[in-house]
Amino acid sequence: MEKSIPNSTILVVGAGIAGISVAAALAETGARSLIIEKEPWIGGRVSRVARYFPKFCPPSCGMEIHGRRLYENPRIEVMVNTVIKSADKKGDVWQITLETAPSYVSDACTGCGQCIAVCPKFAPNPFNLGMNKIKAIDFVHPNVRPHIPFLMRANCVANCNRCEQQCPVGAISLNATRTEKTVFVKTIVAATGWSPYDIKNLPLYGAGTLENVIPNVVMERLYSPDGPTGGKILKTNGDPPKKVAFVQCAGSRDANHLPFCSEVCCAASIKQASYVKSQNPNAEVTIYYIDRRTTGRNESMLADAIANDTCRFVKGKVGKIEKRGEMLSLRVEDTEESTVMEAEADMVVLALGMTPTHSAVSLPLPFPMDDNGFLENAPDIGLIAAGTSKAPFDVASTVRDAAGAAVEALICEGVL
Ligand SMILES: Cc1cc2nc3c(=O)[nH]c(=O)nc-3n(C[C@H](O)[C@H](O)[C@H](O)COP(=O)(O)OP(=O)(O)OC[C@H]3O[C@@H](n4cnc5c(N)ncnc54)[C@H](O)[C@@H]3O)c2cc1C
Ligand code: SF4
Ligand code: SF4
Repeated sequence: MEKSIPNSTILVVGAGIAGISVAAALAETGARSLIIEKEPWIGGRVSRVARYFPKFCPPSCGMEIHGRRLYENPRIEVMVNTVIKSADKKGDVWQITLETAPSYVSDACTGCGQCIAVCPKFAPNPFNLGMNKIKAIDFVHPNVRPHIPFLMRANCVANCNRCEQQCPVGAISLNATRTEKTVFVKTIVAATGWSPYDIKNLPLYGAGTLENVIPNVVMERLYSPDGPTGGKILKTNGDPPKKVAFVQCAGSRDANHLPFCSEVCCAASIKQASYVKSQNPNAEVTIYYIDRRTTGRNESMLADAIANDTCRFVKGKVGKIEKRGEMLSLRVEDTEESTVMEAEADMVVLALGMTPTHSAVSLPLPFPMDDNGFLENAPDIGLIAAGTSKAPFDVASTVRDAAGAAVEALICEGVL
C-alpha cells in the first residue's frame, strides 16, 4: 500500500467545495496536497448561499465539517490569500511561484475581538457583496475559516495602529507585505469554480442600475442570517417585497450571451421562491422560464413547488425590465400563447448564468478549454480540472466530480 502513495505534493487551486473535496479525498488515500485559495477564507460560493438544496441545509454545518477535513489533516497544507504568480514546466515537474497577499493577522489570533472593538473605521463587507458595513478589521461572518478577523488595510484611518496596539497576543502586523514561495509539483488540480454572468452585459434588464432588480447571488445573501439584512428579504426602501418575479436564463441559452444552460438556476430560483414565501406567505411569486430544468434529484423540488403552490410558473422569455412608478414592469413573451404581455413586480431576481472564474492571469497554466471557457483535463502535462471550473454543477455533482478528479490526479502521479 505504501508503494502506491505519491512522494510529491499535489497542488489544488481553489478551496471551494470542489477543491476541498479533492484535497480531502487525496489525503484519505495517503497523498499530500497543498491547497491555495485566492480569498482570505475557504468555502467558495457555497459558503455564500443561505440554504442549499436538496435538503435546504445552512452552509455553516457542511462547511464546518469541510473546514475540519482540511485544517485537521496533517497531509493537507492550506494557504489563503494565495494565487499562482507564474508556472514553468521542466520535464514532468511544474515549478510554481505562489504569491500570498498579506492577511495582517496571524494564526496566533485567538478570536477575542478586542481589535474590532477599538477600530474606529467602518468598511463595506466583501463577503456580503458590499451590502453592509463592518469594522475595517472584523469577522466577515461568524463561521469564517480561518477564524481570524479580516483587515481591510486600504480602508484604515491614516496613521492608525489601534488594533495592533490592542491585540493581547501580538497577532497583528500592519506592515506585513506580499510573500512568494516556489513549489515543485507534478500534478495540479484546478478547482477555480464559477462566477455569475456580469449583469452589466444585460442592458435590457437594467445592467445593475435598476433598484430592486437583483442577481440571484444577492438573494442568497439577503436570506442569510449573517447577511446584510440579518436574513430579511427587503427592498432598497426597507419594505418586504409583495410581488416577486424570477427571470430565468438571464444571460443564459442566448447566442448573444452564454449559449449554454447553467443547470442549477431553475432549482435555485424555486428554492429562492420558497425563501420569499417563508417570510411572507401572501407574497405573489412568479417564475418566468423558457424550460424548467430541474434534473435528477432536484426534480422533486419542482413537483413540491407546484403541489405547495410556492409560486406561479409562466412559460415566457422576459425581454425587458423598466421602472414604472413605484413598480417594475416586465415585458414577457408568452411562448405558449404566442403573445407579448406586461407584468409587474416590486422585486425582480435575475437567475444569472454561471461562467468559469479563471482567467489567463489568475490561472497561468496551459489548460485546454471548451468553447465556453470551461477547463478540460490535460493529464499528459499533469493538469486536471474539478467541479464548476469544468461545467456548471450543483454541489452534489461537484463533489462527485471532485472524487473523479482526485483519482485522475493520482493517475498523473503514476500511482494508479
Ligand atoms: C444562485 C445560486 C444558488 C445555488 N444554490 C445551490 C444550492 O442550493 N444547492 C446546490 O447544490 N448548488 C447550488 N448552487 C451551485 C453551487 O454554488 C456550486 O455547485 C458550487 O459553488 C461549486 O463549487 P466549486 O468549488 O466548483 O466552485 P466555487 O464555489 O466557485 O469555488 C471555487 C473557489 O476557487 C477560488 N479560486 C478561483 N480562482 C482562483 C485562483 N486563480 N487561485 C486560487 N483560488 C481561486 C475561489 O475564490 C473559490 O473559493 C447555486 C448556484 C447559484 C448560481
Ligand atoms: S489600523 Fe485599520 S483596522 Fe486597525 S484599528 Fe486602525 S483603522 Fe482599524
Ligand atoms: S487579532 Fe488579536 S485582538 Fe484581534 S481577535 Fe485576534 S487575538 Fe483578538
